[in-house]
Amino acid sequence: MSAGGKTVVLLACFGVRAEPWLAALSKAAPDFELRVWPDAGDKDEIDYVVVWAQPNGFLRQFPSLRAVLCIGAGVDRILEDTDLPKVPIARMRDEGLTQGMVEFVLARVLHYHRLMPAYEAQQRQGVWRQLAAPLARDRAVGVLGLGQLGAACAASLAANGFKVRGWSRTRKDLPGVQSFEGPLEAFLAPCEVVVCLLPLTPATRGVLNAATLSQLSGASLINVGRGAHLVEDDLIPALDAGHLANATLDVFATEPLVAGHPFWTDPRITVIPHASALTPPGTAGPTIVANIRRHLAGQDLLDLVDRAAGY
Ligand code: NDP
Repeated sequence: MSAGGKTVVLLACFGVRAEPWLAALSKAAPDFELRVWPDAGDKDEIDYVVVWAQPNGFLRQFPSLRAVLCIGAGVDRILEDTDLPKVPIARMRDEGLTQGMVEFVLARVLHYHRLMPAYEAQQRQGVWRQLAAPLARDRAVGVLGLGQLGAACAASLAANGFKVRGWSRTRKDLPGVQSFEGPLEAFLAPCEVVVCLLPLTPATRGVLNAATLSQLSGASLINVGRGAHLVEDDLIPALDAGHLANATLDVFATEPLVAGHPFWTDPRITVIPHASALTPPGTAGPTIVANIRRHLAGQDLLDLVDRAAGY
């Protein structure tokens, strides 16, 4: 139950600095009572939890909880909780987050498209050699996942002239994007760059594996989905076999990537510390508050998670 008629929101984002979120939420919702875990006060008063990477069973301790709002677009960590209360869960859809991901993906696709790894290798050897790069219209880029992030990245790649193919559960109608559903192998075969922006679900875990990667020839992989989309043990063999030429990994099965892991030192692999698109509190704080206000007004939350589908 709310405290003194005020809506009580608990910020419980594990592994994330609370201050910027508290500042953004306070600015957007001066009329709410904001609490920051572990200072939850009377747990019976908590109406909403804004969450990231909570421990198992964490959300169960708030008996009056009305809904959970995630600061990230991926809710796999939330759904791993085996003792989740049966309240609605909203994931993050935010223009700042989307823009960040679009910029990162475009940067990496252009990096590979314009043969930067080859020039960097040449420079290390003192080699002066011009290499012919095809135009974007002759470069096939495949985007796995055509949701809020995948569709925005596909649109930006198409606007930059790339031949864009997109793979999703259901076929989409997006300008400049050839949309596919069905077996991943057939989708991947013509791709020269592959961008993974899938949610992690039982159906997508391990989709990038020896069999699927073997469809590619000299391609570049950009994994910005989740580490477990890739069978990590299959990556270096796929590079050695020439199915892949290089890979940018922003996400890993275990984060941080452990010291001494071969990915750290393989020159074909770029390791990014899960930073391709950090949710910006400045834009996402007001998004969360607007969603809570909607719910308080009796409407369904936007961007509700389908627990059965896992995203
Ligand atoms: P959405 O839920 O909006 O989109 C998910 C897309 O994946 C949809 O197009 C969906 O198909 C498709 N999909 C789901 N399951 C399958 C399947 N089994 N086969 C084929 N396609 C499938 O998610 P977002 O775009 O918001 O986010 C995508 C993911 O990006 C997040 O779940 C998260 O893992 C990752 N992410 C990573 C970040 C980072 O910093 N690295 C930051 C933010 C997100 P359909 O449209 O038919 O439902």
